Amino acid sequence: MDQPGTSSNPLRVAIIGSGPTGFYTADHLFKSKDLHVLVDMFDRLPVPFGLVRYGVAPDHMKIKSVTKAYDKIAEQPGFRFFGNVEFGKDLYLDDLKAHYHQIVFCSGAQTDRWLNIPGIELEGSHSATEFVAWYNGHPDFLDREFDLSQETAAVIGVGNVAIDVARILSRSVDELRESDIADYALEALSQSRVKEIYLIGRRGPAQAKFTNPELKEVGHMEEADVFTLPDEVELDPLSAQALEKSPDRATELKIRLLQEYAQNQPSGKPRRLYIRFLQSPTELFGDENGRVKRMRMVKNELYATEAGSMRPRPTEIFEELEVGLVFRSIGYKGVPLPDIPFNADWGVILNEKGRVIDEESRRSLTGIYTAGWIKRGPTGVIGTNKPDARETVDCMLEDLQAGLYLEPDASPAETLDMIRGRQPNYLTYDDWRTLDELELERGRLEGRPRVKFTHLEEMLAALGRQPAVIKP
Ligand code: NAP
Repeated sequence: MDQPGTSSNPLRVAIIGSGPTGFYTADHLFKSKDLHVLVDMFDRLPVPFGLVRYGVAPDHMKIKSVTKAYDKIAEQPGFRFFGNVEFGKDLYLDDLKAHYHQIVFCSGAQTDRWLNIPGIELEGSHSATEFVAWYNGHPDFLDREFDLSQETAAVIGVGNVAIDVARILSRSVDELRESDIADYALEALSQSRVKEIYLIGRRGPAQAKFTNPELKEVGHMEEADVFTLPDEVELDPLSAQALEKSPDRATELKIRLLQEYAQNQPSGKPRRLYIRFLQSPTELFGDENGRVKRMRMVKNELYATEAGSMRPRPTEIFEELEVGLVFRSIGYKGVPLPDIPFNADWGVILNEKGRVIDEESRRSLTGIYTAGWIKRGPTGVIGTNKPDARETVDCMLEDLQAGLYLEPDASPAETLDMIRGRQPNYLTYDDWRTLDELELERGRLEGRPRVKFTHLEEMLAALGRQPAVIKP
């Protein structure tokens, strides 16, 4: 048999994960000159797009329009999507090896980093990732409960996820109706009594991770004023020095915006968002029912490491905030996949430029690759995954040229039989197109951009399908 990649013997690739990276990986493969490729994309969730659907804030509809580009990729004749098919439950590595020349893991970062302080497990203390997944209608998080009868909430961390959470808590019902937030979350948030929201940064304004458009956005909310404390947004001498040495206009603008917020006066809006800096939570305290009621924080000062980065160091000054809800938003973390070498400290698949490597020999494993957050960690915006996927695909093509690929013994038709046998309730891209239209239609009826389906059963019913019973 000739080398895969020809019309008579197309390269067969399995992509695990249908977030942006999965699509960019498929796209780079389809665009490779003279390469004939069949891509099967799998997702454990019934419908595609990963964090674009279940992570991007529901009031950022423009960002979500990136999926139009993914629809185009899915139109390629060699593309198939299998939703509701989970690697490690329905399919294993050996199954994929028997059916594909190359396998690419693009499973993202599915959990959150842990904050190890006393009281973090109290009721009312949650991870931001859970809240985000809940308000976005992620099937695994539908049953979560957040006590929105509390008047004060704290969000720990000052990245884009933290500011998303703070903004969703601050939005008016009318603003939320213009988003594609899950209908049950809209209902719950419309009853919310949260009035004060604190965003807590452990370092100073120059080190805040959120980006300027998001920071400006919170200054224009219908029902919430935003404030900072003048002494916390004053630039410290070390950060000032660092900025002088390597000027950075985005950071300068960020500091200016934060300083402007320190001049804000209450305008009579019912909610207040406070962005605090140089504070590390040290303990959460509960009431007699084990519910969080207070958070202790220590004031930090900054010092420069030898490498030049600014780190926080605790002082002796403590402060306590009465809070009934706490969201830790200190970064996502990848989870290991069965039979795939993993670095547990970093939460990434062991790899070199996207080639998955063996833990002991450090040699690359033939035909197995990774891209996106599970390859490099949870950093960057959606577009960052495009060059990342490119790097992985370049390695795949190089290996193909060198004759390094898996040798599947099953035919493409047998692949479909296998998938059907393992998970008869799989959804295709055509199923998604139907659901997409129906969601948009439900939105039109309610004067909203989209009303999401959230349960698998609901999706199957909308497609006119009875859930098939899976044989043991
Ligand atoms: P992130 O940008 O890495 O921010 C994490 C935040 O947690 C930082 O402020 C960090 O402070 C803080 N933190 C970490 N450990 C802490 C600790 N032990 N105690 C207190 N604070 C701690 O992560 P993210 O917000 O989860 O976002 C992940 C990625 O998605 C980012 O690249 C982000 O830009 C992207 N994203 C983009 C958008 C958008 O474009 N609109 C929306 C959402 C997410 P230090 O800096 O001091 O470590």
